[in-house]
Amino acid sequence: MSTTLLSGKPLAALFQQEVQEQVRSLGVDGVRPVVAVVMATADESTHWYVRSIERAAERTGVGCRIIDLGHDATEPVLAGVLRDLSAEPSVNGIILQTPLPPGVRTDSLVGLIAPEKDIDGANPLSLGRLAVGQPAFAPATARSVVEILEHYRIPLAGKGVVVVGRSAIVGKPLSLLLLARDAAVTVCHSRSGPLARYTKDADVVVVAAGRAGLLGGSDVSSRTVVVDVGTNVLPDGSLVGDVDEATVTGTAAALTPVPGGVGSVTTALLLLHTVEAARRQRSSPPPA
Ligand code: NDP
Repeated sequence: MSTTLLSGKPLAALFQQEVQEQVRSLGVDGVRPVVAVVMATADESTHWYVRSIERAAERTGVGCRIIDLGHDATEPVLAGVLRDLSAEPSVNGIILQTPLPPGVRTDSLVGLIAPEKDIDGANPLSLGRLAVGQPAFAPATARSVVEILEHYRIPLAGKGVVVVGRSAIVGKPLSLLLLARDAAVTVCHSRSGPLARYTKDADVVVVAAGRAGLLGGSDVSSRTVVVDVGTNVLPDGSLVGDVDEATVTGTAAALTPVPGGVGSVTTALLLLHTVEAARRQRSSPPPA
C-alpha cells in the first residue's frame, strides 16, 4: 500500500500569494496590515515559531510587531498590553502566544483580545460564534486542517471524521468546522479509551494531542486519510508529529508530514486573517 504524502507547502504558497496581493491592494489606499504577537516565555520552540511568523510577514509585506514581555511577565502587565493593542488603530491582528508564565490565567487574558482583531480565534467569543455559524476567525491551525483536506479534494460531507484532542484552540474549533461541512465527527481525548476503537473505521483521522507516536499503523485502515497536527520536539532537537510515521506510512491512504504539513499552512493563514481583519476594520472602523 503506498501512502500519499499531503504536503502543506503548495497550499501555503497559494495563501502567501493571496496575502501579497491583498497587501498590495490595501497599500493603494495607504493601509498596511499589522499583526502584533505578544509573548512571555523563554521556551526556545516558541521563539522559533514566532520568528517564523515574523519571516513570513516580511516576505508578504505584512507589518509584524513582536512584543516580548519576558518569562516573568505578570498577568496585569500582559492584560495592559492586550487592552492597549486592542484599542490601537494601527494594529489589525493580535496573537497571544502560549505558554505563558506559571500562574498567569490564559483563559482570562484571551478574552481581552478585541474580537475583530482575534485572528487566531483565541477569544471565547470567537469559538461561540463559530459554534452558532456566525462570522468569526477560526483558530488558524483548525482552519489549516480543513483547507488541506479541501485542497487535496478529500470529501468530508457524510464521512466519518475522528478528531483526537479537544482543546479550545485546536480540537473543539476543528470539530465545529468539520460539522459545518457535514462530516460525522467523533472527538477523542485522554479519557475516551483505545483510539483504534474509533479510528480504525474512520475515513479521516486528525491527531492533535501533542503525544509523539500516539497513532500507529494498527489504528488505521487502508482508506484512512491522516492529518497530523502534533508538534513534538525530541531530545535530539528534531520535530515530529503525533503519528508514528514508520507504521502509518504504508498502511493509511494518505498522511500530512511533520514538518511541512499543517504548520506551514497555519502561518500563512494567520497573515491572511490579518489582511482580512485590516480590510474589515477599514470598511467599518470601531466607534471612537
Ligand atoms: P493541548 O495539550 O491543549 O490538548 C491536547 C489534547 O489531546 C487534549 O484534549 C487531551 O485530552 C488530548 N490527549 C492527550 N493525550 C491523549 C491520548 N493519549 N489519547 C487521546 N487524546 C489525548 O494541546 P493543543 O490542542 O494546544 O495542541 C495539540 C498539538 O497540536 C500539540 O502537539 C501542539 O504542539 C500542536 N499544535 C500545532 C500547531 C500547528 O500549527 N501545527 C498549532 C497549535 C498546536 P484531555 O482533554 O482529556 O486532556
